Amino acid sequence: MSKHLPDDDQVATVRESLVKWYETDHRAFPWRETTDPYRVLVSEVMSQQTQLSRVVDAYEAFVDRWPTVEALAADDRAAVVAFWSDHSLGYNNRAKYLHEAAGQVIDDYDGAFPDDPDELQELMGVGPYTADAVASFAFDNGGAVVDTNVKRVLHRAFDVPDDDEAFERAAEALMPAGESRVWNNAIMELGGVACESTPSCDTAGCPWRGACGAYQTGDFTAPDVPEQPDFEGSRRQMRGRVVRVLGEHGPLALDSLGPRVRVDYAPEGEYGREWLRGLVADLADDGLVDLEQRDGEAIARLRQ
Ligand code: SF4
Repeated sequence: MSKHLPDDDQVATVRESLVKWYETDHRAFPWRETTDPYRVLVSEVMSQQTQLSRVVDAYEAFVDRWPTVEALAADDRAAVVAFWSDHSLGYNNRAKYLHEAAGQVIDDYDGAFPDDPDELQELMGVGPYTADAVASFAFDNGGAVVDTNVKRVLHRAFDVPDDDEAFERAAEALMPAGESRVWNNAIMELGGVACESTPSCDTAGCPWRGACGAYQTGDFTAPDVPEQPDFEGSRRQMRGRVVRVLGEHGPLALDSLGPRVRVDYAPEGEYGREWLRGLVADLADDGLVDLEQRDGEAIARLRQ
């Protein structure tokens, strides 16, 4: 488990701020408008290999053609496989499993999906991730989902090591009890629109900036992002932070400004005085900041 996970006092803030951020604005997907487990399952199976923006059309065509689990189970498997191919949805096995799962729901559960993740895993093709997703989004009864996006967020924000069990434990520890629907949606949205490979912490208004280790240090590597992403992206963030700090504190000497911009600032280090001077010089060229010598010290101030 990460030693940087929020403690009991902080966790409430971390939870509330993320849920609030998600509820204020998020991408509208048709499967977010439903709690029908059949539709949620269809969307989850489709999203496993296909970009969400492309899934929307396929999903709507699918539930238009087979609006219920009964309708899907009653049709021929070949028709479902053909649909899958026609819409370039990846492995045809997923279509076969989905059709088989629909048959199981009809035959073994009298047409009513189980609401428990363990039991959902009895359905063909439904692994732990999909089971938690369906249990969460349909029944608000799932465990914390952990996909690549969630791992990236947890690794960056709380320094969770790249280890599946550590991710599971951290994700469970963070999720507020009994709120799996909104929580899993929110943390996946964070990974999808703010904490992407190249993160957009400031522009997306990430609610975890105050707690996030990567945001403090500027190291945005992650298990699926082994190289520091898009340096210009990070540099832009650092520029934004310089302006914000100077706005909050007024003029500052470089060595006072530095630690407020990066917690790992060290005057002679890689991210030290020279690095900061370069950043401030860029901002001066852009007419945003002035750098002046006073008593032998370089002082940065917002340009009036
Ligand atoms: S502050 Fe940035 S790096 Fe940290 S969780 Fe938010 S988007 Fe990700």
